[in-house]
Amino acid sequence: MLLALAGLPAPAHAAGKPVDVLELDRGSLSLVEYITVLEDPGHALDFAQARAQTYRHTGQADQAISFGYTRSAYWLKVELRNPGATPVRRLLEISNARLSDIRFYAPGDNGDYRAHRTGSALPHASRDYPNRYYIYQLDLPPASQQTYYLRVASEGAKLIPVRLWDPVAFAAHQQRDYLAQGLFFGTVVAMFLFNLVLFAMLRDRLYLMYIAFVAITAMSLASQNGLAHEWLWPGIGGRWPNLSTAILFSLSHATLTIFMREMIGTRTLVPWLDKLLLAMLAWFVVSPVLLVFFYQQVAGAMTAIWSITSPLTLLIALVCVGRRQRSAYYFCAAFCVFFVANMGSALAALAFLPHNLITNFGAQIGSACEMLLLAFALADRMHIMRREKEQAQAAALTAQNDLIAGLKVSEQRLEARVTQRTAELQQANDRLALMSMTDVLTGIPNRRRFDQILAAEWTRAARQRSMLAIGMLDIDHFKQYNDHYGHQQGDDCLRRIAAVIADQFRRGGDQMARYGGEEFIFVVPDAHPDNALAVAQAVCDAVAALGIVHAAAPGGIVTVSVGVACGHPVGGAAPAQLVHAADMALYQAKELGRNRVELALGYARRSEDA
Ligand code: GH3
Ligand code: MG
Ligand code: MG
Repeated sequence: MLLALAGLPAPAHAAGKPVDVLELDRGSLSLVEYITVLEDPGHALDFAQARAQTYRHTGQADQAISFGYTRSAYWLKVELRNPGATPVRRLLEISNARLSDIRFYAPGDNGDYRAHRTGSALPHASRDYPNRYYIYQLDLPPASQQTYYLRVASEGAKLIPVRLWDPVAFAAHQQRDYLAQGLFFGTVVAMFLFNLVLFAMLRDRLYLMYIAFVAITAMSLASQNGLAHEWLWPGIGGRWPNLSTAILFSLSHATLTIFMREMIGTRTLVPWLDKLLLAMLAWFVVSPVLLVFFYQQVAGAMTAIWSITSPLTLLIALVCVGRRQRSAYYFCAAFCVFFVANMGSALAALAFLPHNLITNFGAQIGSACEMLLLAFALADRMHIMRREKEQAQAAALTAQNDLIAGLKVSEQRLEARVTQRTAELQQANDRLALMSMTDVLTGIPNRRRFDQILAAEWTRAARQRSMLAIGMLDIDHFKQYNDHYGHQQGDDCLRRIAAVIADQFRRGGDQMARYGGEEFIFVVPDAHPDNALAVAQAVCDAVAALGIVHAAAPGGIVTVSVGVACGHPVGGAAPAQLVHAADMALYQAKELGRNRVELALGYARRSEDA
């Protein structure tokens, strides 16, 4: 569109004057300022009629003649002069692939004009010279001046860059041109395939959006610069070659908008601006349909709208940058590079900038940079996602470790409590065991406990082959005591006697017990009969020494009788036998008058014999 403004005043001396074909600046020359034109609004003139008309100056200079969006056909006339003495061959280049109908009229040998018709509406084979643009070969005889006519008709904007080339210079130019195009499309194909592979591996639809954008954008550029007509659809003519450019450009904008919305996440980041993007997207999708049916009416408006939507998209990206959206930085950079490059070629077209490789291929360079920057955005996103994943994994690991540590702590607490409870239980058990082993009335060991002690002492004595003595003790006339003093006092008496007996065995530990009723028992380990008798006598004396008054007894005090048995625990003998022997001795002590000690001699002798 900017090119349409290229209405700079032309140097008055050049227009309509013949061009000296020998004086080409570095092999080529723009013919714009030498061309005179004739407008044919109704497409009514044939060549003979058009030739007879008066041509006017365009008032334009530089690279291209621009007629904007008109339906008219235009006749162009240029005069070339060969002042030299030899024939000269030149090439005339019209470097706009999107002119649909071009008729070229060159004078023959006899002054008749040969017509050659081509244009984007005709198959590519209609061109004499194979190129993405329209090239005509001109042969100028020595010392001659020839007039050439061009008739150009086309839908949409008529921008006609006409240039005269030296064939050798053109060959070099063409090589550079195709090399640059090859580089660009090679890059595009590489980006396309690389991201296609990434999509296949990652299954992230962003990559699909990106490759759709890359493919459609590249196709639109190829369609615009004639390469698509030359290589992709050479056999197709009609409206498609021109229509395809506009449709593909529109779809390129659509895919870029879809990609940008998804990548930046505008829906949540900037909901209002996202609605604007959606409206733009709807326009980009609908406009191809409008183009098919109303090309002439909407093509101009479409270009104008594109020149608004592009800065608007940049603006939205800038807002997202303001919101610190990482991908938006890349989009801004991509759009900026794209604009600068396109602006460069537009300014070059307006002659504000010199023509060079960079300004000539501005659109392609801009697109390539844009695609690269957006690919960087994708790579950056992948990097961010990987970092987030790693952070999430680290967080999960930390949480897991915390959990494990917590579990360990509670396990330790539980263990401590279990240990404590076990200890408490053990204590309770010990208390219970002690209680079960203790006589309630007197507080000394009971018979159950004594059975254990006796069994242990028995085993030990058997191992050490030592003697074991047992004393069985019974209170004398205790029935009468109870009868006389009452059961309560009887209990009291039992307690006092138990205490005295316990006192006698305090050094040796639990060696005595209440055997039952008013009977007590004791064991003396490693005891000789004399030794055992002495112990028994001491107990007997100690009880008597208490001097508990017993009015009903012959001696007047409470006394005890003791039966002692000594023996070696060998030859399959059981402790009960020894107890029984002591009991027998006790019985004897009772018989012999009470308050005395008797030794079960027979048993002791039998044991000693064994
Ligand atoms: P002996 O001199 O022949 O032993 O005459 P004894 O009266 O003591 O006869 P025996 O040994 O048969 O008497 C047992 C008495 O002991 C019967 C009962 O009144 C008394 N006795 C047994 N156990 C208890 C007790 O726990 N408390 C009291 N107060 N008396 C008991
Ligand atoms: Mg008794
Ligand atoms: Mg008794």
